[in-house]
Amino acid sequence: LPTAFHDQLKGRTLIVGSTGFIGRFIAEASLNCGRPTYLLARSGSQYPSKAKTIKTLLDRGAIVLHGSINDQNFMEKLLKDYKIEVVISAVGGGNILDQVTLIHAIRSVGTVKRFLPSEFGHDIDRADPVEPGLTMYKEKREVRRLIKESGIPYTYICCNSIAAWPYHDNTHPSEVLPPLDRFQIYGNGTTKAYFVAGADIGKFTMKTVEDKRAINTSVHFRPSCNYLNINELASLWEKKIKRTLPRITISEHDLLSAAKENLIPQSIVASFTHDIFIKGCQINYSIEGPDNVEVSSLYPDIPFKTIDECFDEFVVKLIEHSPPLKNAVRVVQNPEVDDGIVTSNSLVDVRPITATYA
Ligand code: NDP
Repeated sequence: LPTAFHDQLKGRTLIVGSTGFIGRFIAEASLNCGRPTYLLARSGSQYPSKAKTIKTLLDRGAIVLHGSINDQNFMEKLLKDYKIEVVISAVGGGNILDQVTLIHAIRSVGTVKRFLPSEFGHDIDRADPVEPGLTMYKEKREVRRLIKESGIPYTYICCNSIAAWPYHDNTHPSEVLPPLDRFQIYGNGTTKAYFVAGADIGKFTMKTVEDKRAINTSVHFRPSCNYLNINELASLWEKKIKRTLPRITISEHDLLSAAKENLIPQSIVASFTHDIFIKGCQINYSIEGPDNVEVSSLYPDIPFKTIDECFDEFVVKLIEHSPPLKNAVRVVQNPEVDDGIVTSNSLVDVRPITATYA
């Protein structure tokens, strides 16, 4: 595209990782708010779903650039040529340190007004999971230190848990239906956490990028409407599917054993699950000081999607989009007799759909 065209565009935003789970929500939100949105995509992905994601975003007006953040010269040229003002990275857990080269490029170019590194979880300077989750946090901490040393204006998004059933062995739980056979309850099931819909992670992230109050700040997502423990989450799902399910306790010891197995990525998720539902890492500190802010205090008039609404969407998916479940699930037509969804016994054998690229 001609340079003159780029000169006219304000708020040019580069998103790294838009074919990923979190990155897609960010890219969609950037397009929703009308920002000139540039996507950095690595070529040669073998997953058709990723090509489809790129095509959808392209059709919505995104500009797709091919390359990797590992290449500093390429990144410097890209940032300069496209006059990028905001960089948002949502690289996955295995690529956190790739951002080191990106930070060098951002520092060298010197024109990026805001950088959001790949965080999108807990406050990694406060939470202290067991291994192997700890290694990922150490890498994220290293990225934070480098950003500070480089003097790049930043915002850290600490959005807590994605709104979904918190499977302890799946990195992308919102791509999986909540259980239909039995609940696995962590510990005594009373430790609370915050659950945020993916679209809200994108929406509120994009609000912070132009907000001076979020410069050099950790923005914590703690929507009071979505503050639940896993017992409450289970009861809510039972209400939606109109049946009760057995509950099995997954003890602290079970989660620590799953973490110790060191299977990547499942054991990483087990260590975070332990940190959230046994140790209470999302709720055992208060948000204070000039470098920390709760997102609802910045945007008090903008509501979050409730976990109740998210579970309604899972029910719709359960009925409409899961061929094996379609025959097993029947919506009772006469609400006076029974307004619920009834399931046949075959549901007991249905396994959760696994994430496409966990
Ligand atoms: P994914 O693995 O789903 O996606 C990673 C994306 O980054 C892909 O698009 C990938 O591209 C891209 N990428 C990786 N390396 C490079 C590179 N060198 N150059 C350019 N692009 C690259 O990641 P997630 O969405 O799971 O994770 C993103 C962040 O969100 C992480 O920090 C993670 O910890 C956090 N997270 C938070 C969750 C929560 O519940 N709060 C849940 C899941 C993640 P390609 O398509 O080429 O592979």
